[in-house]
Amino acid sequence: MPRAWLRLEMNPMALGVRKRRHCEREKQHDLEILSPPSKEKEKKKRPMSQISGVKKATPSPSLAPACIPRFGVNTPHESMLAKEIEDLNRWGMDIFKLAEYAGNRPLTVIMHSIFQERDLLKTFKVPIDTFLTFMMTLEDHYHADVAYHNNIHAADVVQSTHVLLSTPALEAVFTDLEIMAALFASAIHDVDHPGVTNQFLINTSSELALMYNDSSVLENHHLAVGFKLLQDENCDIFQNLSKKQKDSLRKMVIDMVLATDMSKHMNFLADMKTMVETKKVTSLGVLLLDNYSDRIQVLQNMVHCADLSNPTKPLELYRKWTDRIMVEFFTQGDRERDKGMEISPMCDKHNASIEKSQVGFIDYIVHPLWETWADLVHPDAQDILDTLEDNREWYQSMIPLSPSPTSPDEHHAEVGPADGTAGAGGAVSSGGGEKFQFELTLEEEEEEEVESDLESPLEEEFQTSGDRRQDSSTPSLSPDPRSSNSSRYRPPSPHPSRTLNLASMSVRSPHPHRTLASPGPEGSDRNRELSQEGDGVACLQMGT
Ligand SMILES: [Zn+2]
Repeated sequence: MPRAWLRLEMNPMALGVRKRRHCEREKQHDLEILSPPSKEKEKKKRPMSQISGVKKATPSPSLAPACIPRFGVNTPHESMLAKEIEDLNRWGMDIFKLAEYAGNRPLTVIMHSIFQERDLLKTFKVPIDTFLTFMMTLEDHYHADVAYHNNIHAADVVQSTHVLLSTPALEAVFTDLEIMAALFASAIHDVDHPGVTNQFLINTSSELALMYNDSSVLENHHLAVGFKLLQDENCDIFQNLSKKQKDSLRKMVIDMVLATDMSKHMNFLADMKTMVETKKVTSLGVLLLDNYSDRIQVLQNMVHCADLSNPTKPLELYRKWTDRIMVEFFTQGDRERDKGMEISPMCDKHNASIEKSQVGFIDYIVHPLWETWADLVHPDAQDILDTLEDNREWYQSMIPLSPSPTSPDEHHAEVGPADGTAGAGGAVSSGGGEKFQFELTLEEEEEEEVESDLESPLEEEFQTSGDRRQDSSTPSLSPDPRSSNSSRYRPPSPHPSRTLNLASMSVRSPHPHRTLASPGPEGSDRNRELSQEGDGVACLQMGT
């Protein structure tokens, strides 16, 4: 299916054109087998039989193993590229420069370098030409015209995961298969991203939302495309793995990519906190992870951390990422405006506070996550946490002074377009023209609340916190100080601190049985489905 197909589906103009053509062709009895209308007909006969976004395999760049370029791709800037690659193992390598010198193939180059560095090609008998053919095909399925969720972001997440895998507290903890799974998951984790959020896809009744029944729409799609591409000619990089290894890798990759859905963020964070509280270390001082549940949990959080690592990088890199995500958000906002839809938080170019958003994003999401990761691998991530806090202060200092004094409940930043699945969403609009948005979705595996079925998330989105239910199953999680007595949520202090931990922990459902996703005697065989669909909070799409 051509990549443009999804866009056509979502563009009423283009769709109209196609429909008209269809009619004309029918009139003329033009039954060209390969024409788009026929394809459409065929699709109707075999609904959902194809993974959209997977382009027809083009003749693969045939690479004789003897003439493989040093860094896997041909580039006139090989010496400059060599210099950038020296930072491969460093947090904060300049992935933008690397992209420039890599002929816009940063994902292929970074994966090639990391697989060489970790000797994975030899360990798993991956033919080098197959590896490069697959990587270039994968990279081609990231959209060059999407400002943030493109091949550079994928390369960045791969490289960040690579560095986190080498953290001393995890030395020799993971097997080569687990390491390869984490790198592969990072590489495919946003492939064919259309540059809009899950919620947008759901609200516009997109084909993808239909396909995946509104749950983790994009993440399911990235996985499907990533695995499908392995079937292209000379693309099966796992051809020499045993059946058991393939099955195991596939399960881990699915678990990791699905964990990048921001609607699962609070779940994974809470579970990681439980792990920190009960953490065991071996005599060598590394983490003891002796069952699948614990091992995959660390890997899921690792990839999620890598995905949310922009604010922990040197400021000049972080600012570039912020610029890119804002372009993407505003593009979505423009489409929402054009369609007469409500514009998602942060997506309205006429009414956004970029600096405040970043501070809110760090305070509510990124800092609690990284602080917990740092506790888990203590003291390995201290520098990362320090950079994050410095960057937070920088964005705080850049918040333009309000033209008029604001009341205490008007101080908050817009945080990002909510990307929740079914359930409650909460956003607070305070007075004074400043909008505070912090949207949360509580996913209940038991639908105890009839009410919650009656209200659409969209309707709830525009309730103010004061109007929101305060019962235990759908807590209102508003940082609005006015509601802080009734809500268990507390707004963050000006400096990210332990209160953030408490704040994010308080999001947990009070039902004791919900600790089932925790490690420990009862939790060691936790059910993956429950951990993914359990009580949780859907919030932001930023930076994922
Ligand atoms: Zn991502």
